[in-house]
Amino acid sequence: MARYTAAVCKQCRREGMKLFLKGTRCSSNKCAFEKRGYAPGQHGRSRRFKQSEYSIQLREKQKVKRMFGVLERQFRNYFAKADRSKGITGENLLKILEFRLDNIVYRLGLAASRNAARQLVRHRHILVNGRLVDIPSYQVSVGDEIRVKEKSRQLDLIHNSMKRVRDGKLVPWLELDKAQMKGSIIEIPTREAIPVNVNENLIVELYSK
Ligand code: SF4
Repeated sequence: MARYTAAVCKQCRREGMKLFLKGTRCSSNKCAFEKRGYAPGQHGRSRRFKQSEYSIQLREKQKVKRMFGVLERQFRNYFAKADRSKGITGENLLKILEFRLDNIVYRLGLAASRNAARQLVRHRHILVNGRLVDIPSYQVSVGDEIRVKEKSRQLDLIHNSMKRVRDGKLVPWLELDKAQMKGSIIEIPTREAIPVNVNENLIVELYSK
């Protein structure tokens, strides 16, 4: 499967914001963006040109793609689906991304980053409604129950991540039972309840050209 091969932290520096791709490191003083909050490359520090409308829209799309770890073709498919659905296209797009299984595992705090969540899913540690699902892009639905497989409950990766989950820190549309290592989706989130700091309308404008 195709994947990003560049250094992970360079993606944050390129987009000019923290994308939280590395779990605990992102909240520590080792964060590369905190140390070097300018674009990577020889001229990263001195780049001071006026961005065109296209470039602003493109960067917004890249931010979302990188945040969720989705490549171009899949992202375009998500956009097409969002465009066909009722409602506001940009919001639909974010909801589709939020309802990916790897993202839900991350949001529940079972993994420290979406990357780690993707690994948990691929390595067959996660059940959806009692059935093993090993496809990170699997779309969950309201009412679905996501739980860690019985045999996988001792994994350090999960325990360490769950230690950091504080009650009330979860997004309001998810519910977590920490003791049972399971969670469920209560409702479809409103835009305000999706903690993704991007302007999705710019992505819609980009793809509507
Ligand atoms: Fe981005 Fe995290 Fe790397 Fe900081 S540590 S630059 S937030 S991926």
